[in-house]
Amino acid sequence: MTTVTRVYNFSSGPAVLPMPVLEEIQRDLLALPSVGMSILEISHRSAAFESILAQAEADVRSVAAVPSNYKVLFLQGGASTQFSMVPMNLLGPGMTADYIDAGSWGEKAIKEAKKVGTVNVAASTKSENYSRVPTQAELKLTPNAAYVHMTSNNTIEGTEVKTLPDVGDVPLVSDTSSDMFSRPIDIAKHALIYSGAQKNLGPSGVTLVLVREDMLSRSQKSLPSMMNYAVQAENGSMYNTPPTFAVYTLGLVMKWLIAQGGLTAMAEVNERKAAKLYGEIDRTGFYRGTAHKDCRSLMNVTFRLASEELEKAFVKESTAAGLDGLKGHRSVGGMRASIYNAFPETGIDALVSFMREFERKRG
Ligand code: PMP
Repeated sequence: MTTVTRVYNFSSGPAVLPMPVLEEIQRDLLALPSVGMSILEISHRSAAFESILAQAEADVRSVAAVPSNYKVLFLQGGASTQFSMVPMNLLGPGMTADYIDAGSWGEKAIKEAKKVGTVNVAASTKSENYSRVPTQAELKLTPNAAYVHMTSNNTIEGTEVKTLPDVGDVPLVSDTSSDMFSRPIDIAKHALIYSGAQKNLGPSGVTLVLVREDMLSRSQKSLPSMMNYAVQAENGSMYNTPPTFAVYTLGLVMKWLIAQGGLTAMAEVNERKAAKLYGEIDRTGFYRGTAHKDCRSLMNVTFRLASEELEKAFVKESTAAGLDGLKGHRSVGGMRASIYNAFPETGIDALVSFMREFERKRG
């Protein structure tokens, strides 16, 4: 094995992957055991790939206890394609879809849904810079809506939904791109869940979709086949060539997740990691968390300093110290530490030490 120097990677996505997964990919890249060819070269119709796909699906099902009346789909086009696919499939004529507007990604989902049909923004915290998610009491839900769309974790603003909204019998659709499998998730409370893989699940290029089977009857035959959940489900995510390498890697990440003890164990570690970082942010007032405390994300920790000049210095010096990717999204400013499942706790300790030292020098 060659010796490599790895920095602490706080990127919001594509993001850090577990070391054992990278090592396995590296080891098997020239030839999968007993296949004699690389994962990058084998046919998606080969028995080897069919088994990789089936195993990835089985492991997703086992990790999240996915009920048997849900399809597991591996699609392409990122979560952004789901912004369109969800309304194209689920929002019939004469129906209204409710959207909870709690962050920049949810806003983009609304923009796409409006191109397809009637949208009601059930609540919005845009005027508060999305520094919190709307409360249940604020939701103005449409009776018999086609569905309610939410974003479980707002990657850019660093907020997350702690308790799922009560939407009665209306199907709940959730964009879980940035917190999928970081904590236990009650699949049965959702009708459809989608996640771009490139934060907690694997590399970019594959999007995980879990969809309750009764939703598939809404997909009209007139839809483009690639955009049709029913077609994708009937074909077991193999209507066309799936993103084979991304599915393979996602499968390895699922195996790693299972070896870590699954979602409950993962949540415990994630809570501990985030608590250390928020503890440092709150310690003296030198740093300022941008999200309301009761909405703070365990995955994306956003914070600011007293001036943009200090923030620039923080980003520059932290990068030089091997802490990469801490610059916040331009819409929020400041810093963002994305600390997904695979982000090591030693990296949190390194950041906390850096923050203390920075404060000592500049505070
Ligand atoms: N939703 C959320 C919550 C995201 O964080 C992102 C990407 N950062 C997206 C959607 C868009 O995902 P993609 O780039 O896979 O289209």
